[in-house]
Amino acid sequence: AKEKSAIFIIFGGSGDLAHRKLYPALYRLYKAGVLKDHFAVIGTARRPWSDDYFRETVVTSLENLDDDKQKMEEFAKHFFYQSHNVNDSKHYIALKELAAKLDDQFSAGHNRVYYMAIAPRFFGTVAEHINSEGLKTKNGFNRLVIEKPFGRDLASASELNNDLSKAFPEEEIYRIDHYLGKKMIQEIPNIRLKNPKFDKALSGKYVSNIQVTLGESLGVEDRGGYYETSGVLRDMVQNHIMQIIGSIAMDKPDEMTAESIHKVKTDLFSSLKVLDPEEVNRAFVRGQYDTDRLGKQTAYRDEENVDDNSNIETYAAGKIEFDDERWANVPFYVRSGKRMPDKSSRIDIVFNDQASKLGINPNTTVSLLIEPENGHSILVNGIDYQDSNQDLIKFPEDKTYFDDAREAYESLIIDILSGDRIHFTLWDELQSTWKYIDVIREQWDLETPKFPNYLSGTMGPEAADTLLERDGNSWVWDD
Ligand code: NAD
Repeated sequence: AKEKSAIFIIFGGSGDLAHRKLYPALYRLYKAGVLKDHFAVIGTARRPWSDDYFRETVVTSLENLDDDKQKMEEFAKHFFYQSHNVNDSKHYIALKELAAKLDDQFSAGHNRVYYMAIAPRFFGTVAEHINSEGLKTKNGFNRLVIEKPFGRDLASASELNNDLSKAFPEEEIYRIDHYLGKKMIQEIPNIRLKNPKFDKALSGKYVSNIQVTLGESLGVEDRGGYYETSGVLRDMVQNHIMQIIGSIAMDKPDEMTAESIHKVKTDLFSSLKVLDPEEVNRAFVRGQYDTDRLGKQTAYRDEENVDDNSNIETYAAGKIEFDDERWANVPFYVRSGKRMPDKSSRIDIVFNDQASKLGINPNTTVSLLIEPENGHSILVNGIDYQDSNQDLIKFPEDKTYFDDAREAYESLIIDILSGDRIHFTLWDELQSTWKYIDVIREQWDLETPKFPNYLSGTMGPEAADTLLERDGNSWVWDD
């Protein structure tokens, strides 16, 4: 990618996300020459920090990346700090003036990226102030980047969206779902296009079921407080899992443009078969981790900032269906959990016996491995596609194709700077997925689960296996 120019204003510039993800991603872009001379970053948060102190924290956040201290210092010279309280109009005027000054200094083309690395309850307020205090520039771009969670149910997401849309038109809003920044997910349309037989077979005629797993081996670590307000259904299923399903199950877009791709995705999500409340317990299973077999690991209820009697789920599995011609009667089994045996994110596609009409052996499975990122690859019947004797998956011809992929945030920031909205989520999509999730959440909140119900280091509660067995199916990834 060629050099881009912009002034970034990072709200929550002293926070965890900014230091763990954003500054390292910006630094990689700096090393790649995408960011060079014509950019500056304003970090803003409540604390009164000096530019120098801020730059030190930025350099510290890069320590694991390389040991080119000189390059890091050079990079950090583009960083400036402004202390700020989200409710104080005066501070936005100060931000505006600093941004204009830096724009002159770095010739940043009047482009602005407003990045919300701040608690979600401030998203609306900040967006409104950006608009009302006139931070937006006239002859460059203005792009608002929003982190998850985008609401906690349909009602709060709608309210947030209303607030945002008063200040920014939809086409200026970039809602991050960082799974859409991952190489394997981004390659799905290409994998479909270049493996025509596989693409043709991707329909209810030839597919028995599709499985999406986002497994983590870690527990909540130091984010127990956040997790208590969320749970895995909101944290992973509503957003990441749904978007992954969208990537694999959407119809072929007319063109590879954001508009065409979002159209087919929106259509798919609007055909989600929303459950009736009495169907929830048959279609969805929830779990919460206990200690492990040896009693060494901390059970969820004993984690810091977690209620001793917490009923928050750390695991969920379910069967999602669509009222859609292509996917009628195909179950999409999904699951995500903490403290599973490995970190592994994958899509498993199981073909049925009709697939033999296309020359595909009955019950063939194709697995797209998304994470860990250095292990991403495609398996056919559990064997690397290139080592397995088959003609279903032939692309990519070169195995190294997936190597050296840009890290998700790095890739998404390039898209933001280029005005490419393909890999971001649109409001229409979120509306449909929240509507789907709300029914499950409401039903679960009415009942007291028997938690904890799975040991750390296992594949989750047994009921998650039963869910598939009832249909005569089973999980492809099983420890
Ligand atoms: P954090 O608590 O580490 O940082 C929050 C930032 O907001 C700090 O810089 C703080 O100074 C600033 N802030 C708080 N109150 C303020 C106020 N009144 N005025 C001005 N600034 C204020 O939080 P985080 O973990 O970095 O998360 C930030 C956002 O990113 C949240 O929306 C979160 O949901 C999202 N997110 C975080 C992660 C992650 O891994 N940390 C992952 C995905 C999404």
